[in-house]
Amino acid sequence: MGHLIPLAEFARRLTHLHHDISITFTTLSSSSNNAEQSILSSLPPSITSLTLPPPSLSDLPSDLKIESLISLSLSRSLPSLRHIISSLPDVSALVVDLFGTDAFDVAEEFNIPKYIFFPSTAMTLSLFKHLPDLDSSVSCEYRDSPDPIRLPGCVPLRGSDLLDPVQDRTNDAYKWVLHHSKRYGLADGIFLNSFEDLEPGPIRALTEPGSKPPVYPVGPLVRTGGSEDSTGCLEWLDRQPSGSVLFVCFGSGGTLSVDQLTELAAGLEMSGQRFLWAVKSPSKVSNSSFFSAASSDDPVGSLPEGFVERTKGRGMMVPSWAPQSQVLAHTSTGGFVSHCGWNSTLESVVYGVPLIVWPLYAEQKMNAVNLIEQAKIAIRPTTGEDGVVRREEVSRIVRALMEGEEGMGVRSRVKELQERAKKTLSEGGSSCKALGEVALKLRQNSNHNNNNSSVANGVSGDV
Ligand code: UDP
Repeated sequence: MGHLIPLAEFARRLTHLHHDISITFTTLSSSSNNAEQSILSSLPPSITSLTLPPPSLSDLPSDLKIESLISLSLSRSLPSLRHIISSLPDVSALVVDLFGTDAFDVAEEFNIPKYIFFPSTAMTLSLFKHLPDLDSSVSCEYRDSPDPIRLPGCVPLRGSDLLDPVQDRTNDAYKWVLHHSKRYGLADGIFLNSFEDLEPGPIRALTEPGSKPPVYPVGPLVRTGGSEDSTGCLEWLDRQPSGSVLFVCFGSGGTLSVDQLTELAAGLEMSGQRFLWAVKSPSKVSNSSFFSAASSDDPVGSLPEGFVERTKGRGMMVPSWAPQSQVLAHTSTGGFVSHCGWNSTLESVVYGVPLIVWPLYAEQKMNAVNLIEQAKIAIRPTTGEDGVVRREEVSRIVRALMEGEEGMGVRSRVKELQERAKKTLSEGGSSCKALGEVALKLRQNSNHNNNNSSVANGVSGDV
């Protein structure tokens, strides 16, 4: 979801601002996921949506990491992609997701320019660009490296804060990330879902004149248009005082251990604050915080006994999935406990809601560092030695955000960034201009294709 939502927004905004561009949106997803289906079915008529037939993955081990799974799914789907591209009349560009660089081979066969849509931070993109160098210059695991990792324009990072798949260099997931990062230089351009006010240092470094491939910061692109709220939480928010509710949500894949879930619940209760919590069943696998084997059909049932009754009136729980962007946009929402997925972060910025960082997987530890040290729109709880944030600490940090001085500081800073985000997306703003450049490139590619094939119908080609 974290890749699909911003890519769909990118497509939507491109066709909305530049009517002469049409888009064919191709996914690998299974059609059974309702949240995915609701994104795809909300695309405007100028965007055709196609799902590739699922490739056979039955030979793969069950403990394969998500990065390997995505990469293998795509590389095994290239014949279907080839078939789709050959059936389209005039393709002016192929845009792939961050782990989609194997599709470049197909683009080259058809002589089509190739782009990457990068749904994460400029800092993570910088890591991807420099990973081949790091791979040859650092001999140990990055987390054991005594020196911080220095990326151009970024705050220094501890090796242990780097994204998950690079934490074990012997795992296939690392090899896949390295493989893709080596192919980033082949792209004709990279569309980045960020903006300079949010990540000034890394974006300036990535967009220095002459850097290759060119990077277009087109963000913040967040989900627009609401989905139906079957949970009743928006109505509940309508009845709460302005800025009084803390929203707790760990993205589409984040789960907590049983112990952590209990401590979080107890801490929210102790804090005395209002809260809305998208609860997922706890992870049954120790140390797993992503796509766990969580199995209970009733996540709320896994909360401590009596919790729901004791917090009635000031706490609301929704099972698994909340209409997050509408919740963050609601005037009653005043804070966000987030796993720091990049889309969640951007939504928080766009709606001006300060955060408590609770990174779980992927590149979220890097995002948390960024939010605290560079953007300064978030605060962080202290984790115990056993890796669990205890209830007293949860209560302390929640009160600090919702009514303390620390909270006031990050709130005023996120409101400033919210204004800047609005500007950057409006006419004349830097993201709007970057998107204009993208559209121009696509038209040039299309004219080039048309001239080559002696077709000149005046309509830009398909992406
Ligand atoms: N989301 C949502 N409801 C939920 C959980 C997530 O609408 O209960 C949306 C959220 O608004 C965001 C996306 O799913 O747009 C999650 O993306 P993110 O990059 O934050 O995290 P990921 O799920 O990829 O880890």
